[in-house]
Amino acid sequence: MRFNPKARLDNSRMRNSGGGGGGMGGGMGGGGGTRIPLPGGTKAGGGIGFVLIVVVILLLKACGGVDLTGAIGAGGASGYTTSRFSGDTGLYQGCSTGQDANDHPTTCGVVAVENSLNDYWKNTLAQQAPKATWAPEAAINTFSGQTSSGCGTAQSGMGPFYCPPDQTIYFDPTFFKDILQGQLNGPSGAFVEPYVIAHEYGHHVQNLLGTMSKVKTQQGPNSDSVRLELQADCYAGMWAKSATTTEDSQGNVLIQDLTQQDIQDGIAAAKSVGDDTIQKETTGKVSPEQWTHGSSAARVKWFMTGYQNGSLDACNTFNGQTVE
Ligand SMILES: [Zn+2]
Repeated sequence: MRFNPKARLDNSRMRNSGGGGGGMGGGMGGGGGTRIPLPGGTKAGGGIGFVLIVVVILLLKACGGVDLTGAIGAGGASGYTTSRFSGDTGLYQGCSTGQDANDHPTTCGVVAVENSLNDYWKNTLAQQAPKATWAPEAAINTFSGQTSSGCGTAQSGMGPFYCPPDQTIYFDPTFFKDILQGQLNGPSGAFVEPYVIAHEYGHHVQNLLGTMSKVKTQQGPNSDSVRLELQADCYAGMWAKSATTTEDSQGNVLIQDLTQQDIQDGIAAAKSVGDDTIQKETTGKVSPEQWTHGSSAARVKWFMTGYQNGSLDACNTFNGQTVE
């Protein structure tokens, strides 16, 4: 994955709230693992101490966010030198160009991916869902340890999630190494993080389109929750297909190159966060009746459906008796 070195980056929606300490265990408490992650969901009481992955599932459900898995510089020339977010550490303020993204993939690369997702979905909704009202996500908020969110306290172990009430994507960047690779034996390629961000951005698109209100059944291989998650994977695939032709408002393409290896990384990432794979890694037992995000096979299938078709209609995971 390579970014156009001359392209300008807009870091105005990027926030890093630094280290809040804490890590697992504090914050919202767990319990209520069957609750669907939707706006307005109530917080559950009661504590759980268990393996991290289990905590991830339960905490996220309790927080009202929509998660990825069921488990678990200085002084730019762009003019964006003052963050509009309080408590921002300024981590992204030096990210001004595609060259910065190439040089600093885990910081400025996130800005570039966010910019590309914005450009892509703005254009795509105008073409394919003209009645929808477009708005970018409010922010991508990275943090270390924990931070407050519109869905309660966000914690590292929860993994990346989208919070509908504040339209913000939250993640602790250590998720990729510590949990995805460390606990789930997931891949480490350059396109893993972009896939995850694109999945979360897919939830923002669903929020704009009103899709989240369709979710009635919360667990099981063909539940609405699974269908919502697979659609977010499909939307990630849609963007991946068009990322190298997506233009910004000045007509510049930001992502110059996306290789077959990048796409393979995305597929491997989707596979590693399938419910069956996570259950095997953490409990050794596969229980489809508890699935909330879909099997590895289904996640890969829908990522590829989006990638091959590039259309919202093709990503209608709510059609059909089964999702696989
Ligand atoms: Zn998700």
